[in-house]
Amino acid sequence: MLIAGNWKMFRGPDPAALVGLDAVICPSYTRLRDCVEAGLTTFAQNVHWEWEGAYTGEIAAPLLLELGVVGSLVGHSERRQYFGETDETVAKRVRAALDAGLRVIACVGETQHEREGGETEEVLRRQLAVLEPHPELVLAYEPVWAIGTGRTATPEMAQEAHAFIKSQLDAPVLYGGSVKPDNAAALLSQPDVDGALVGGASLEAGSLKAICETAARIPS
Ligand code: PEP
Repeated sequence: MLIAGNWKMFRGPDPAALVGLDAVICPSYTRLRDCVEAGLTTFAQNVHWEWEGAYTGEIAAPLLLELGVVGSLVGHSERRQYFGETDETVAKRVRAALDAGLRVIACVGETQHEREGGETEEVLRRQLAVLEPHPELVLAYEPVWAIGTGRTATPEMAQEAHAFIKSQLDAPVLYGGSVKPDNAAALLSQPDVDGALVGGASLEAGSLKAICETAARIPS
């Protein structure tokens, strides 16, 4: 069971408050070093496909590795929604990061409009078609309508989507979308839910710890 906290563009809690926690932390760039130095398993929130170059505002895998960062999120819906991330650029980022020796959590998920139009499986199939299984690749199913909205997929909806994702690509699948201490047990108990990617609730050390404690109680 893997719990990952995505701090997005927030400062996040003091890394010292999380020492020893069995979780991946994805802070903003300026806090990567603090998290690494606190001994946390630290991932970036994005990574470019080139090793270096004239790509202002991007970050390269070797620079992350040099800092002690061990992985990266790729293709978060906020990147797809606001920064022009496409399935093709997601594929390039994932491949380059894995080749460089980073672990990757690649995010997929449908919008509200796509779900209501009965297109969830078609969208997931398309987003997954560009990826290949790799021992260091983990997927996160994050229905866009559940991210930061307080609306979470029901455990049954999450299970159905996770089973479909696994039928397309052999990888562990985290659930993400308004996971909180009070709904984590029901979601994490689903057979094909292998952990959680937690946004808002990871910004408070107590609630992230509570979710990790819940995960630790669930038999794998
Ligand atoms: C996320 O940022 O990946 C996320 C799932 O956010 P939240 O938990 O706030 O919905």
